[in-house]
Amino acid sequence: DLTDDGVLAEIFAARDVALPNAHPLTVAAPSGTAQPVTNPATGETIGEVIEADKATVEAGLDNARPWTAPAAERAAVLRRVADLYEANYGVLFAILAKEAGKSLLDAVGELREAVDFLRYYAQEGETSPRSPRGIFTAISPWNFPLAIFTGQIAAALMAGNAVLAKPAEQTPIIATKAVELMHEAGVPREVLQLLTGRGATVGAALTSDKRVKGVVFTGSTDTAQRINRTMAEHLEPGTPLIAETGGLNAMIVDSTALSEQAVRDVVASAFQSAGQRCSALRCLYLQEDSAPHVIEMIKGAMDQLTVGNPWDLTTDVGPVIDREARDEIAGYVAQKSNSIMHQIAAPSEGTFVAPTMLKVSGINDLEREIFGPVLHIATFKARDLDKIVAEVNARGFGLTFGLHTRIDDRVQNISEAIHAGNIYVNRNQIGAVVGSQPFGGEGLSGTGPKAGGPLYLPRFFAPEPGLAE
Ligand code: NAD
Repeated sequence: DLTDDGVLAEIFAARDVALPNAHPLTVAAPSGTAQPVTNPATGETIGEVIEADKATVEAGLDNARPWTAPAAERAAVLRRVADLYEANYGVLFAILAKEAGKSLLDAVGELREAVDFLRYYAQEGETSPRSPRGIFTAISPWNFPLAIFTGQIAAALMAGNAVLAKPAEQTPIIATKAVELMHEAGVPREVLQLLTGRGATVGAALTSDKRVKGVVFTGSTDTAQRINRTMAEHLEPGTPLIAETGGLNAMIVDSTALSEQAVRDVVASAFQSAGQRCSALRCLYLQEDSAPHVIEMIKGAMDQLTVGNPWDLTTDVGPVIDREARDEIAGYVAQKSNSIMHQIAAPSEGTFVAPTMLKVSGINDLEREIFGPVLHIATFKARDLDKIVAEVNARGFGLTFGLHTRIDDRVQNISEAIHAGNIYVNRNQIGAVVGSQPFGGEGLSGTGPKAGGPLYLPRFFAPEPGLAE
């Protein structure tokens, strides 16, 4: 409750506490090399991570055991994890802000989603008599280092699997804290082990060992494709890869749309979390008649954004995750300097990127997913709508799609024609609600099923004899 001064005081007090270090949490004593962990907003070293070596990964696989406790008991433990997360909000927010550059509001949303995943899968699975697959590898990204990390693990555990979790390189501290809380709540250590380290070493080892019976992955499309090839080569045929990946998300705003609402939703969709959401708006199509007016309004709204320290309650746009990301995004924008329609200032210290609006002729001008605060804008005539839908579909991604219009038939026609896992009408296109609004993409954006929906947990159980998967 951010309206409570006591809660705020506790959160701000947590800011000054030294963060715990990150390391593998395995049954056998882990070994590996130490690497610094950096605060993206300041560039300061905030701790260190021990990256698991080969022997530690091997021992993790050797010691992994499925969770044989009855489903009702597993559910009770997951609910206890949710309670412990809630009780530890101060330290969790502090880590999310310092390690991942999350604003306080983003951190609140992320904790809520993590807790929702735990309680939802507990409820979905508590009476299920089905058996687990065995060992599940869970590989997660840095942009939702608590929510996605927890959601993957909660589903795999609820189904009774042994889990080997590999968090993103950039966010090992939040992963270590989360697994410590899971162990404290009663998840046995041999059932859930954490293997901090690189994708190319630890991640690759955990997706190429025959003992692994399933992989759940969230991250970029390129990495998912690499993992898919590795699994095809090394794992038993039919081993599931549950993948949630990247997107090239578009929104159409026609001239009947309520412009103030549309502009607010465009700005939130493109710039919230510094554009580092897989659901974020990348390519906005504006109908020609109203485009000049709407573009002026977007520029005005961008001018109101505050770019800065995520701890500041007035900050709208925080840093991007690291120097590499900053240089890549800034380099991309520099290459397109002739197309810049608007850009606002960003601090020069830390890894901030100036929110930018670029002119394009359509989604085909976007070479790839730019994972930052960069919004591409194209204009269209009413007669070209079908063409736009076809060109968005032809890119092959299918994560989120937004539409602002007051024409009911248009909502119906476009929603039916567009290939996207999540379609948002007359609202922003970020965000999902565990249980009621599950999230996941099609095509190059994921293999499904949607996280936080009823089809997700069943994929983590062994197939039922005689039933097609
Ligand atoms: P990434 O693909 O670089 O890394 C994701 C994870 O994969 C990390 O833990 C990484 O260490 C690991 N990895 C890398 N190489 C590997 C390999 N060869 N074998 C096994 N594991 C390997 O992605 P990222 O930069 O951490 O995250 C951003 C990306 O994630 C964006 O593309 C974004 O769209 C996507 N994303 C998608 C969703 C969704 O729900 N669809 C949600 C969040 C993020």
